[in-house]
Amino acid sequence: MDLVLLGPPGGGKGTQAKRLMDKFGLVQLSTGDMLRAAVASGSEIGKRAKAVMDAGQLVSDDIVIGIIDERLDAPDTKGGVIFDGFPRTVAQAEALDAMLARKGRRLGHAIEIRVPDQLLIDRITGRFTCAKCGAGYHDQFQKPKAAGVCDKCGGTEFVRRADDNAETVTKRLGAYHAQTAPLLPYYEGKGVLSVVDGTQDIAEVTRALEAILDGAKVG
Ligand code: AMP
Repeated sequence: MDLVLLGPPGGGKGTQAKRLMDKFGLVQLSTGDMLRAAVASGSEIGKRAKAVMDAGQLVSDDIVIGIIDERLDAPDTKGGVIFDGFPRTVAQAEALDAMLARKGRRLGHAIEIRVPDQLLIDRITGRFTCAKCGAGYHDQFQKPKAAGVCDKCGGTEFVRRADDNAETVTKRLGAYHAQTAPLLPYYEGKGVLSVVDGTQDIAEVTRALEAILDGAKVG
């Protein structure tokens, strides 16, 4: 079964997707991560996406639909995937439905992690990740136990996303409300939408998501 995590930038989709993967045998598919990898590699797609991402706008539907279509053909996705940051427009959601039907897959759940805007700017502008293992941290809310050393792998290099500055975050929130929020009624109409309170502790949000997925008999 496949699952869509919905919610604003900084709402915790990526953090929660990583926590759900092992328990449910799902693979996280983050279009943001894939696009950042494309930018870093200097590929044609990366070149086209970079300026749009730096401006806090959405990359064209064709590009992200193409990336997901290709990724879903890899064998590691057979046991189910968590879509993180995709779909982000109604056109992407419609393309995803058609794609899943064509590939004989099923979307079991769309879960909104709901967080009010005023909490998101602090969350996003303070976050950083270990350059070696990708573990996520925050200047205020989740510092490494020893300053400058990754708890998980001992790495000492950390990176911040180019688009995690206050100005771009405001634009990304604008794009979320204008283009992505219409997916909530879209999935509600299909009877697959659930909502989780994303202002709770990370572990509490995970527990709420697990309860929904346990009820949905993932696997
Ligand atoms: P994220 O890591 O999900 O916050 O995505 C970072 C940026 O990548 C976004 O602000 C967009 O510019 C781009 N992006 C990621 N996913 C999508 C998508 N599904 N559709 C369009 N643009 C996307």
